[in-house]
Amino acid sequence: MFMALDISTTLKSILNRISGKEARHHTPEKKIRPVEKRNRGEAERKSKNPAEEKGRHTKFSELDLPSHILASIEKVGYEKLTPIQEATYSIIMAGRDLCALAETGSGKTAACSIPLVQKINISKNTIQGLVIVPTRELCLQYVDEIEKIGAGAGVVSFAVFGGFSKEIQTAKINHGVHILVATPGRLIDLMYDGVISLSNVTCVTLDEADELLQEGFLEDIEFILSCILNEHQTLLFAATMDDDISKLSHNYLHDPEYISLIRERVAPVSIEHYFNYLHPGRKETELAQYLAAEDINQAIIFCNARHKVDKLFRDMRKKHTAIEYIHAGLSQNKRSSIFRQFKTKKLRYLIATDVAGRGLDFTNVSHVINWDLPFDGAQYTHRTGRSGRMGKKGRAFTFVTRHDLPKLRELIRTQKITPRWVGKDPLKGTKTLSKEKTTPKKRAYRHSGKKKAGTIHRDKSTR
Ligand code: AMP
Repeated sequence: MFMALDISTTLKSILNRISGKEARHHTPEKKIRPVEKRNRGEAERKSKNPAEEKGRHTKFSELDLPSHILASIEKVGYEKLTPIQEATYSIIMAGRDLCALAETGSGKTAACSIPLVQKINISKNTIQGLVIVPTRELCLQYVDEIEKIGAGAGVVSFAVFGGFSKEIQTAKINHGVHILVATPGRLIDLMYDGVISLSNVTCVTLDEADELLQEGFLEDIEFILSCILNEHQTLLFAATMDDDISKLSHNYLHDPEYISLIRERVAPVSIEHYFNYLHPGRKETELAQYLAAEDINQAIIFCNARHKVDKLFRDMRKKHTAIEYIHAGLSQNKRSSIFRQFKTKKLRYLIATDVAGRGLDFTNVSHVINWDLPFDGAQYTHRTGRSGRMGKKGRAFTFVTRHDLPKLRELIRTQKITPRWVGKDPLKGTKTLSKEKTTPKKRAYRHSGKKKAGTIHRDKSTR
């Protein structure tokens, strides 16, 4: 008993130190919200889109933005707010808690970054904004956006994530950071080391909140949030959120506003969803034919395991030069370099595990290819959301084998996908062709080398 007390006291004192509670004895501990709040369902969510109500999108110049922030936004090339930005801006500025769902690629990063930058008091050399994301790549992308927007405002942002020197991260934080973007694991490490204090955080954002609230991250997130003892607002952003996670999210929000711009569909509407039912042994041939027949800007080819990425890369590099691969087995430097090359269009093809599946913004990706059927609907949406960004048309192409069929049925139902079959539709047991295409194709892509019945005509006009 005595030992237990002793350990618990030590732990509390560590927590107090890293969270700055010692200096704020009067601050009440953040309470997990009671169950009655948790059980509010979908029906209670408000779907707001001010742009739709007034029939046009607001220009940034119409907002009451400080001139240096407006200048930075204009320099990036943003003129009007996207729907998610329009729907969330005043809520965030008002200091309210928020749970916002919007399609991937809809401008969520800037929706959070623009008001967040405005809220920073640069005369205080402390962390005031905390953004938690699930992957290192998202960390870098977020910081990139904040830097662009906050450049003229003197706001210092910084990303901390695993696989990178703690000493360098520590030095930077000690030098002063206003907005910290972090993956949960490294953030907790640095909190334990006493490098990071969250005692001045006034705005916490969970980006890709649905993933952060899943088992695996949840314990870390609860710990981090329990260390923010002073008054703050909490923002959750996600592209998908099932009911369980949605209920769970109530635990972390105080009297929140709900914004859902997802409407009926879960998978992005700007994407055409093609499926190819085949024997696993034919994937390589079919992929080669598909790539040759399609008009591809950039494509990401997703596999469900690292060794599959490695093998496919070895095979494909024989025919393609502007190609790279990425998975968690690569060093952080290598991953960052490949992302940069892909983003700047030096690469045409990227073979990847799901490290590239969430939230990352690759504006020029025209095609997402699923070498393996994703594990679930949310993963399918995140992967395919890499194409069709900001209103551009995208195309998803997924290989399906016999063993995938139960999962596929579920995917089509839950994600409300209208599948287009290249060759046989195994769910109907009939051969279907893509009939909506009318203009002559560039080249025929056949579902099988022998049978003409699988030929699909690819027509740019449908993009
Ligand atoms: P995100 O959903 O945050 O990954 O953003 C997708 C893309 O939209 C990024 O390339 C952003 O630079 C771009 N973007 C964000 N906000 C705007 C805006 N208001 N106008 C034009 N592009 C934007």
